[in-house]
Amino acid sequence: MAEKLCPSCHKVLKLRESGYPMGSSFLKADRVHVDIYECPECHGIRLYAAESDMVTCPKCGSVHSAKEACAICAMNAAIDEAGK
Ligand SMILES: [Zn+2]
Ligand SMILES: [Zn+2]
Repeated sequence: MAEKLCPSCHKVLKLRESGYPMGSSFLKADRVHVDIYECPECHGIRLYAAESDMVTCPKCGSVHSAKEACAICAMNAAIDEAGK
C-alpha cells in the first residue's frame, strides 16, 4: 500500500485503525469501512476508504470486506432455500 502524506505537513501519516466500520449506528446508508490515519506532526486525523482487507468472492465475484461474509452469496443461499 502506498504511504499517505499529510497535505499540510507532508509527513507520513500513521495508521491508527484499519477497516473501521463507519455509519452503521447513525446512518441508514451502506456501511463503509475506513482506515484512520493520524499525522504525527499536526495530529490531524484523515480517513481513507479501507483498501487493505477487501476480498473478491470466488463464487460470485463481488468485492466485500474480508471481515464480513459475502452478502450476495448469503442472499443467493436464502433464495435457494426459499425455492425448495
Ligand atoms: Zn500534519
Ligand atoms: Zn459471493
